[in-house]
Amino acid sequence: MHILVTGGAGFIGSNYVRRLLDGRSDITVDRVTVLDKLTYAGNLANLAPVADHPALRFVRGDTADPALVPELMSGVDAVVDFAAETHVDRSIASSAEFVRTNVLGTQNLLQAALHRKVTRFVHVSTDEVYGSIDTGSWTEDWPLAPNSPYAAAKAGADLLVLAYARTHGLNVGITRCSNNYGPYQFPEKVVPLFVTTLLRGGTVPLYGDGLNVRDWLHVEDHCRGIDLVLTDGARGEVYNIGGGLELTNRQLTGLILDACGADWSSVRPVPDRKGHDRRYSLDDGKLRALGYRPQVAFEDGLAQTIDWYRRNTDWWQPLVVRSAA
Ligand code: NAD
Repeated sequence: MHILVTGGAGFIGSNYVRRLLDGRSDITVDRVTVLDKLTYAGNLANLAPVADHPALRFVRGDTADPALVPELMSGVDAVVDFAAETHVDRSIASSAEFVRTNVLGTQNLLQAALHRKVTRFVHVSTDEVYGSIDTGSWTEDWPLAPNSPYAAAKAGADLLVLAYARTHGLNVGITRCSNNYGPYQFPEKVVPLFVTTLLRGGTVPLYGDGLNVRDWLHVEDHCRGIDLVLTDGARGEVYNIGGGLELTNRQLTGLILDACGADWSSVRPVPDRKGHDRRYSLDDGKLRALGYRPQVAFEDGLAQTIDWYRRNTDWWQPLVVRSAA
């Protein structure tokens, strides 16, 4: 199978590419083409472990490029679409790039997939498209009510993907996952931000009262779920991917402090994020019916992740310097 992976030099996309090529995935590939613009969040070092694999082709380019994308799509069997602007705080500061990549980029990919008769198109979305939920959990048929510009742009892409299924019969699947953590995550997101800051002896910023709740899933479990949706998901269906551990930001902070040998004197309260969603919670029963089970216990995954950041200062130190500039 020839798979086109967009955003494959980012955090989750690179984990997906590495597992396709290092045998962790059950999917047999003869070619993996990665299309990535290498924004500040994209990093070729994320693909270093498989850089010499003969099946890998890396192309630096934009998913919204109407000339490049149809050309790359020639001979492709399946697309897995990770490429996105992903940081909520950046979308609050300025949202144009979010609409361009997250909406227009995905639309351009869909159009090319239709033209090239691609047999399966999996779009990687997020639980943030549902908004915020005080009690209970979202099922896939829950109305979309995104709050941040990031989530609104992702919701726009989800609707386009479903429209290409209904209007054109394109064989699509959508995944909506909860918060991911793991190695190779850019150090602006909360887990690597806190870990790399504490490892340097700094103080970490905790938003508002710290009681916002997120479900934390290891990146490897997310990618396992995407594989399943790619191979066994029904045409035109959405699948939630969750089942990690629900924690308040304060609880998460406490666990990271303990694991890094720091205490609450290393925490600096900061005003809450504008429009900060209170709680996310997914019902992932639909994917579990296909056999999905998360396999990484949070305490093990967090310990392994922190250990990875301790051992890989060469990977993150240049990124910390660049993002502070
Ligand atoms: P990331 O920010 O680490 O990586 C995004 C990648 O996309 C980067 O390599 C970047 O260079 C690339 N990219 C950006 N714009 C592009 C464009 N126009 N053309 C080509 N490439 C482009 O993101 P991530 O955390 O790995 O997230 C991947 C996907 O998973 C996103 O679609 C995101 O919405 C979704 N998701 C993320 C999480 C999470 O917790 N990180 C949770 C659920 C869903």
